[in-house]
Order: sequence, then structure tokens, then C-alpha cells
Amino acid sequence: MILRYYADAEISEWHDHALRLLKTLHDEYGITVEIDRIDEQHGLITDFPGEVRYPTPEDVYERDLKRNRELNQVIEQTPSEAFKRYGKLDIAGNISVVDDGGTVWWASTLPGYADGYRLDAESRTAMDFLEDIAASPSNRLCVECLSLLDGDESFCPNCGYEVP
Ligand SMILES: [Zn+2]
Repeated sequence: MILRYYADAEISEWHDHALRLLKTLHDEYGITVEIDRIDEQHGLITDFPGEVRYPTPEDVYERDLKRNRELNQVIEQTPSEAFKRYGKLDIAGNISVVDDGGTVWWASTLPGYADGYRLDAESRTAMDFLEDIAASPSNRLCVECLSLLDGDESFCPNCGYEVP
């Protein structure tokens, strides 16, 4: 499993916090983290424990999001509605969960925190997601099969993995 950050989040505090949380997830849980820096807005990224690449937003959209059936099933909007609003790509600041084969299984569709969005937005935001899994990965996803969890399961409903 890979956590991929489409950087940079527009607000520098969010960006810095995302980098810190990804480092924590790498160091404490051994999760592979990486960055596709599609919109460089803040400073140089140093001391990051994963790969940092500089693709174009178009490349990322084509590779990860466009016509992605797995993703389409778990997010509320279609990938094109979520990331290509009015024909303009809007991806930076989001986080995705990628399997070892390179398929994106989940992606946030709102780059910030749920505050400021409507009440049920928490499951869709990048920052809440990162904070949740940094606190306890099993609250949000099964590390075996990458299924999203509600947080109160003792077994993953998809693969049966015993959630610690
Ligand atoms: Zn599972």
C-alpha cells in the first residue's frame, strides 16, 4: 500500500502538516509514502522518507483518476466531477491510497479539513484522513486489502482481516 500526496496543498500550514503526517505514517507504521508534486507553491521538500516526483497534473489525472472504476465506486462524485471541475484539473492538495499494482483505490476529493464544508465532508477530506490514519490506521482503512473502514469493525468486511 502506498499513500500518495498530490502536492502542494494551497495553504502552507496544510502542506507542512501533510508532510509531517506522511513522515509519521512512514516511520511508525512502515507505510510507503510518496509525493507527486504537481503544483509547486511552497518551499523545497527536504527530509521526506519517500519518492518525490514532479509530473504534470494531466499525467496524474490520466494515470490515477480518469475512468478509474475502483475509485468511482468509493467516492461520491465521478473522478471527472471531483478532479476536473469545469474542464480544469483540480487535484493538488489531495491524498490517494494506491495498491502495489499502481491502482488508486481511494482519493480524497477535498484538499483541506472538513471545517468549512458541509457536515458529512470528513470522509472526503485529505487532512482529516491523514490525521485519522496517523492516529490509528485501522480506523479508516484495512492495511491488508485497502478497504475503507468505519472505525468500529473488528474484522475487515471485505477480506476478513482482524483489525487490530
Ligand atoms: Zn481487508
